[in-house]
Amino acid sequence: MAHTIDVEMMEKIKKHGAGGKLDVSACFNCGNCTAVCPLAEDSAGFPRRVIRMAQLGMEKELLAQEDLWRCYACGECTKTCPRQADPMQFMAAARSYAISRYDPTGLSGLMYRSPTFNILVFLILSGFFSVLLLWHQGQRSLASNGGLFSGYGSTQLFRFIPGEWVHSIGIALFIVVGLALVFGFFSMTARVTGKKNQAGERRPFPVSALIPSIYSAIMDALNHGRFRQCGEDEALEAKPLLQRAWFVHGAIMWGFLAMMLATTLDYLLKPIGSPVPPWYPMRIMGLLGGLVCLYGLSIAISRRISAKETPYDKSSFGDWFFLLLLTFTVITGLVTLVVVYMPHPTTFGYITFMSHIVLAMDLIVLLPLTKFAHVVYRTLALVLHQWAKAPAPETAAALATHP
Ligand code: SF4
Ligand code: SF4
Repeated sequence: MAHTIDVEMMEKIKKHGAGGKLDVSACFNCGNCTAVCPLAEDSAGFPRRVIRMAQLGMEKELLAQEDLWRCYACGECTKTCPRQADPMQFMAAARSYAISRYDPTGLSGLMYRSPTFNILVFLILSGFFSVLLLWHQGQRSLASNGGLFSGYGSTQLFRFIPGEWVHSIGIALFIVVGLALVFGFFSMTARVTGKKNQAGERRPFPVSALIPSIYSAIMDALNHGRFRQCGEDEALEAKPLLQRAWFVHGAIMWGFLAMMLATTLDYLLKPIGSPVPPWYPMRIMGLLGGLVCLYGLSIAISRRISAKETPYDKSSFGDWFFLLLLTFTVITGLVTLVVVYMPHPTTFGYITFMSHIVLAMDLIVLLPLTKFAHVVYRTLALVLHQWAKAPAPETAAALATHP
């Protein structure tokens, strides 16, 4: 089988990880990382095989590896690598590199490689959304010669920034982002399903196994089943449950999903901005989701700040950017939940509310371009992996006849 070689690929991948300090050139392909990896399913699997592909410049093959996304960055391989080649950081950088190659615009590559570009895009988007959201209130203030933050009660935040306006922009953003993700989605699917084995054959991907594969991958993403196998649950000196890596990651994800669900139900079940008591179920769901998410974020951030242990000792700008963007979105959301029940309007309340909406819009727009995209690509990779493992119909029939 002929291979196309990109001799600069390793250098390109390095720019996507650990602030460019990543260096896997020391790897001599011993296979120790694959032996210790709790998630490697075969002796030639990840991360060794993927590192080798990068060393040899086999870009097409590397981008077709769903194995990249089966790694949960537990760091077991990095702790035991005899050459300090840091395979865990390599896998993280290779995932970012893969996203940038699945993205036809090239913007995600720029976002990952250039902190300056990243900040610039964030500032431009934030400024744009702020002007858009304040347009209505600005015109009203000019007409009445009043201040920008005067004239509405604090319980009328959705008159200060019209609720219909927020939801229309939000839906438009979801459509644009959804379309952008579709390109990456198909690019990855085409590469992974087109991959051939040593004998030059494609894997079967039987249609009958698609739905069970989707179900299995989504359940795994929700309950972090594979993540739980990643070292800590089996370790003799396992951390308390609330501090285990999978639980902290899960808290961020479960809390975020609860906030999204509460916002969606709130929109569907009552008129926008209509007052509800603090014990309204959607308010409680949003509050609990925000607190759970904030718990996970605070542990994740404190571990990266202390940088004492693998896998938190090397963080890329993209890691920090996503964590901080999400944290400020959650904090402003929680403060807004309090502000809305204050008896008197305050400038602080208006600014917090507007900041929350602007940050949430930034988060949505930047989804395909930041670490947030991992949610989509990892789930897709798990679907494809489960799907590829399903036996072809004739094999399944034979197994059913002769178990
Ligand atoms: S990354 Fe380290 S453990 Fe893995 S194959 Fe290379 S040298 Fe061996
Ligand atoms: S970081 Fe953990 S899951 Fe990823 S390759 Fe290394 S040992 Fe395996």
